[in-house]
Amino acid sequence: MIKYKIYVLFTLIITMCTFTFVSAEEPKLLGKTIYLDPGHGGRDPGAIYKELKESNINLEITLKLKTELEKNGATVYLTRNGDYDLSKINATNHKKSDLSERAKMINESECNMYISIHLNSDPSPTWYGTQIFYTTKNEENKKIAEIMQKNIKNNLNTDRKIKQLKNMYLFDRIKKPGILVEAGFISNANDRYLLKQEEYQQKLAQTITESIVEYYKKD
Ligand SMILES: [Zn+2]
Repeated sequence: MIKYKIYVLFTLIITMCTFTFVSAEEPKLLGKTIYLDPGHGGRDPGAIYKELKESNINLEITLKLKTELEKNGATVYLTRNGDYDLSKINATNHKKSDLSERAKMINESECNMYISIHLNSDPSPTWYGTQIFYTTKNEENKKIAEIMQKNIKNNLNTDRKIKQLKNMYLFDRIKKPGILVEAGFISNANDRYLLKQEEYQQKLAQTITESIVEYYKKD
């Protein structure tokens, strides 16, 4: 019996030590600032399928991602937090003006990384899955894209490959490291079903966060 009591006491001490150690751990993204850019908004809904607007889904995912990143200690900025676009009132080309403003906000900030959230669309309804795009504007971009696509494959059961972006007005202008997440195809029935689900949006937000944590582990 004494032996048993000693065993219980010992186990308790070990558990308490472990708990103290875990709770004392610093948040993994403390000191990192992430700029989130939900694509489109306002007069520009992006890709649409019946009543479903890309701009709304982009924002829903972004807000979940913001919460996840903040839970990990990151400072998070958003290019928009409602249904509006960023173009100047007197702009002759509202789309270009909107994208210029987004690039300016990100470049002029102190952010360590940007994540742009969009949905894909294709005339063929068979294409599906989350895909990460990157430019060679910053040499870190491909590394971030590779980590993220790997985790998306493991967590979300889709098997697309990363792709380099060329001649994209917004992404050619952003100097900070970062990537574009095409969260899924609005033109595919199964993706549409998933992208509307809170649970799926949450899983995607967690996977993106986990990937950012993994990327910064090398520091
Ligand atoms: Zn888009």
